[in-house]
Amino acid sequence: MNIKNDNKCAWINDLKPRKNIKTLTKNEICDWLVVGAGFTGLSAARKLAQLNPNKNILVVDAQLAGEGASGRNSGYLVDTTLNDGFSSNKELKNYKKKTDVYGLGVISVRNFIKEYQVDCDWNESGKFFASSKFEDRKILKNFSNTLSKLGYENNLLEKEELSKTLGTSFYNTALYTKGGILLHPAKLVRSMINALPNNVKLLENSFLLSWFSIKDYISCNFDNGKITTKKIIFATNGYLKSLGIKVNYNFPLTLTASMTRPLTEVEFETIGKPDEWGILPVKPMGATIRLTKDKRILIRNTAELYNSFHMSKEDLKKRSIMQKIGIKKRFPKLPDNIIQTTWSGIVSRTRNSSQIFEKIKDNVYVAGGYNGSGIGVGTLFGEQIAIKASNENTKEIETIEARNKPTWLPPDPILSLGVRSRLIYERFRAKSEI
Ligand SMILES: Cc1cc2nc3c(=O)[nH]c(=O)nc-3n(C[C@H](O)[C@H](O)[C@H](O)COP(=O)(O)OP(=O)(O)OC[C@H]3O[C@@H](n4cnc5c(N)ncnc54)[C@H](O)[C@@H]3O)c2cc1C
Repeated sequence: MNIKNDNKCAWINDLKPRKNIKTLTKNEICDWLVVGAGFTGLSAARKLAQLNPNKNILVVDAQLAGEGASGRNSGYLVDTTLNDGFSSNKELKNYKKKTDVYGLGVISVRNFIKEYQVDCDWNESGKFFASSKFEDRKILKNFSNTLSKLGYENNLLEKEELSKTLGTSFYNTALYTKGGILLHPAKLVRSMINALPNNVKLLENSFLLSWFSIKDYISCNFDNGKITTKKIIFATNGYLKSLGIKVNYNFPLTLTASMTRPLTEVEFETIGKPDEWGILPVKPMGATIRLTKDKRILIRNTAELYNSFHMSKEDLKKRSIMQKIGIKKRFPKLPDNIIQTTWSGIVSRTRNSSQIFEKIKDNVYVAGGYNGSGIGVGTLFGEQIAIKASNENTKEIETIEARNKPTWLPPDPILSLGVRSRLIYERFRAKSEI
């Protein structure tokens, strides 16, 4: 089965189509193979090439580079998260370990865009964790205490101030956190493709079917050829499990998002002409919603177990209707049919929302499992797994390795049953927030 994504992602469609796409057409031999060309794989390849300028490095992707989750996400580069797993972060020490990793992720992206002069609509606007339910104030107060103890600037906001700032009176309570950046994900990942050094060859529309190691090399089978490599980095995130990697530690979830057309001046005025903002839900299954720099509204309010290789047009349409309702609830004065596109994307989940970063056997490395927060961490993990695989060490690797490790997940059908019931429960808890 190959990955067959929709071509509806508004972010990707904002960019000019790329030219000179190369595909694997014959057998290849290389020193390094990176599988997956999103934030993780592209960052890994860039770093490998810098550390090993005389080595021959290949990056392969089943689709066009950057057109997986990296180009299809909501564009929040986060320093802190409230709902990044099925379990909450009650312990301060563990939460700090997590934010230490997020912080390094933000630095990695910041350094990258500075070094390569990238324009990705970077806006240090902070973010809102918001809810329409007064009761959720208690969760936000606890979260505010945790953040304050760790030195993150934040403040609680109530309905009146929120409706002025956001242009919707839907929300009754929110915690604003100053840290966190809003950006255009497809512009960022495109810049990482453009930044690939000359000793990296990118092969797209090349789906890895199977792989195995023999002695000192790894053999990889594709539809149209084989790649034999000395070392390999798996950067396929939501598709790690389908390649037999860390199968009891991660699983894919399918998300869908919609983007409206830009609001007209009159429409923008009816919502009070707010500045760009981003809202994350207080309950895990609530909606993520953004007002973009160019006055479009993005909404993501579904997460489900679904075939991660393809979502049908009919099912995408059904998700789009839920997103239309989500927008209408928040902006009743805007016209009904302003959604322009709806797309799906895959995230990798782990049980305790910890990420995967390791050598799984000789010459085989993996980074992924970002649980919906992979812009910064993916960039960081990509760079650092390349350093680790080049037998070097850094303070960043020490911080990453000090994080809590992903915990064991049962095999199917127990896993699917468990995840499905959990999602139903979480969806029910968040029903007013979808
Ligand atoms: C709708 C949505 C909203 C999100 N919102 C946010 C957000 O606001 N902030 C945030 O930080 N994160 C967010 N995320 C998560 C974030 O996008 C991911 O964590 C991040 O993009 C992971 O990057 P990656 O490079 O590891 O994986 P990907 O970008 O998924 O790249 C993996 C690549 O591997 C390729 N691949 C898979 N299998 C094979 C194979 N067999 N052979 C060859 N290639 C293969 C895929 O084609 C893909 O391009 C969101 C994700 C989605 C889907």
